[in-house]
Amino acid sequence: MTLEFADPEVHALIRDEGKRQFDTIRLIPSENYASAAVLEATGSVLTNKYSEGYANKRYYEGQEFIDPLELLTIERAKSLFGADHVNVQPYSGSPANLAVYSGLLQPGDTLMGMSLPHGGHLTHGWKVSVTGKLYRAVQYKVDETSHRLDFDEIRELALKERPKMIIAGATAYPRIVDFEAFASIAKEVGAYLHADIAHISGLVAGGAHPSPVPYADTVVSTTHKTLRGPRGGMILCKSEHAKTIDRAVFPGLQGGPHNHTTAALAVALKEASTSEFKAYAHQIVANARALAGRLIEQGFTLVTGGTDNHLILFDATSRGSTGRRLSRALNRAGIITNANTVPFDPRKPFDPSGVRIGTPAVTSRGMKEPEMGHIGNFISRVLEHEDDVDALDAIGREVADFCRQFPAPGIPNAA
Ligand SMILES: *Cc1c(COP(=O)(O)O)cnc(C)c1O
Repeated sequence: MTLEFADPEVHALIRDEGKRQFDTIRLIPSENYASAAVLEATGSVLTNKYSEGYANKRYYEGQEFIDPLELLTIERAKSLFGADHVNVQPYSGSPANLAVYSGLLQPGDTLMGMSLPHGGHLTHGWKVSVTGKLYRAVQYKVDETSHRLDFDEIRELALKERPKMIIAGATAYPRIVDFEAFASIAKEVGAYLHADIAHISGLVAGGAHPSPVPYADTVVSTTHKTLRGPRGGMILCKSEHAKTIDRAVFPGLQGGPHNHTTAALAVALKEASTSEFKAYAHQIVANARALAGRLIEQGFTLVTGGTDNHLILFDATSRGSTGRRLSRALNRAGIITNANTVPFDPRKPFDPSGVRIGTPAVTSRGMKEPEMGHIGNFISRVLEHEDDVDALDAIGREVADFCRQFPAPGIPNAA
């Protein structure tokens, strides 16, 4: 029985979510549209199979098709990223980070990551995360005026705190991360270098951002952000850490791998190795630059003054709004973003100054620089009508008409 008849309630919610994704401008930089092929693999019979362990060392029988599938996925990831070793079993980005820390560190060891209000991720040692409780977390910030990473300051902090691991990577940083500079500091203080490319792995795969693989001991990525695969995580590492990392994932942290996700990741990695994907990755960056330019023309202040990746962080207070007020109004008009702190934000985290946006999803729909101009104009118009729900709804209808001109991967019948 199809879902529509088996469970009309759930079917309707999924259908409506598909329509929402089709009819709105999706600017959340961690979101994307996975292809129909990726979604098909995700929704397959592989969800039925248990396969604790690794290929040829499983704890259950019946692995005739699972072993070659996992090995194929690993081979594709190794070749796409040029990594010595890859583990494709982490359930998502957060458990992948935790696996790396638990493999290479002891509880109480010093872990140095980017502060969350400055662009780092919760799992980089922020105090409410288990990573901030298990380890002695020290946090670096961005420079007070440029809002960029300041390697003199990072080096000074590392020399003072002597971390056992330094994390390079962010969840809200609009500039290139200089992994080589991080590596030289890590080497000087005798720390492991861990790179978290959850957001930018699609850019790295497509050659639109430098790769950390030559410099880092370990690299973690989600598989569902710019990489445009299923929801999941993976760890790339140097051969010397291969055994430690594999043991940390299983049996250290997880049970059975999600084979349906592994299969979908294999499909996404195949897609990401094409010349079309390379063009896609570069277009994401070109689009972000175009959108940033339009927002600056509209009078917004951008953190660091611009972008060189997929992401833009702009200050809504530079035009008299707040992050929360503007992101709510944008949502009402069908433009989906999130409120975000800006570095040294004077406002409270729940109603911060900034709005975080990005171009991975709109670029997946084939939008290019001219459309980024339209999107910048929509954002500015929403701000001017923030308290007028009728005006916001009218903009929302224009937004839906605009979106319907662009097919959305994986959402065939939404038009
Ligand atoms: C999204 C993200 C993660 C966590 O990924 P989940 O799949 O949400 O657990 C980790 N690190 C960074 C930098 C991220 O942006």
